[in-house]
Amino acid sequence: MIETIDGPAGVGKSTVARGVAERLGLPYVDTGAMYRELTAVALERGTAADDGPALAALVGDRPAAGTDIRAERISRVVSTVSRHPEVRERMRERQRELAGAAAVLEGRDTGTRVCPDADLKIYLTAPVAVRAARRAPQLGLPLAEVARAIEERDRLDARQMPPAPDAHLIDTGGMDAGEVVQIVLALARERTA
Ligand code: C5P
Repeated sequence: MIETIDGPAGVGKSTVARGVAERLGLPYVDTGAMYRELTAVALERGTAADDGPALAALVGDRPAAGTDIRAERISRVVSTVSRHPEVRERMRERQRELAGAAAVLEGRDTGTRVCPDADLKIYLTAPVAVRAARRAPQLGLPLAEVARAIEERDRLDARQMPPAPDAHLIDTGGMDAGEVVQIVLALARERTA
């Protein structure tokens, strides 16, 4: 079974996707981490964020050990690095290879472009205020600053990556990650019943 979990910045995709993959015993493909790694490599090598062909050639290279791919300096540039069609094409090929016949894939275009025939597609949502409140303590940054950064990334990402029309929308606003995992598992059971 192929499952995709998408949603905007800070919605808890990674926690939920990891939990679902673990419970179902499926490999977990974190596509956001792959774009973050590429961004880290580009920053290390001095490759310009607007040079699509040069960036595409770096897909698959690993950043230096100990690099924090969730750091704000990476988050600020990752949307620009991910924008190039040649980068996205290389990434999608790798993501399909990693997923094989059964996996949980997490990331914005997994249900629309990477695996449009996925068996189950989930789109998580939550208001910006809720997402910023979850992220700020993790990053150790002020709430208002995190909210602004999330809004900016939403704006850049939403333009190029709308949700799959056949995705199940789950508003995670009032729920913790464990509850969301249970809902996704129930949908997966329904799908395979
Ligand atoms: O999910 P995460 O916040 O780690 O993703 C980081 C960034 O990578 C996103 O803001 C987006 O710009 C890019 N991305 C993408 N396509 C994906 C996953 C992430 O362009 N499938």
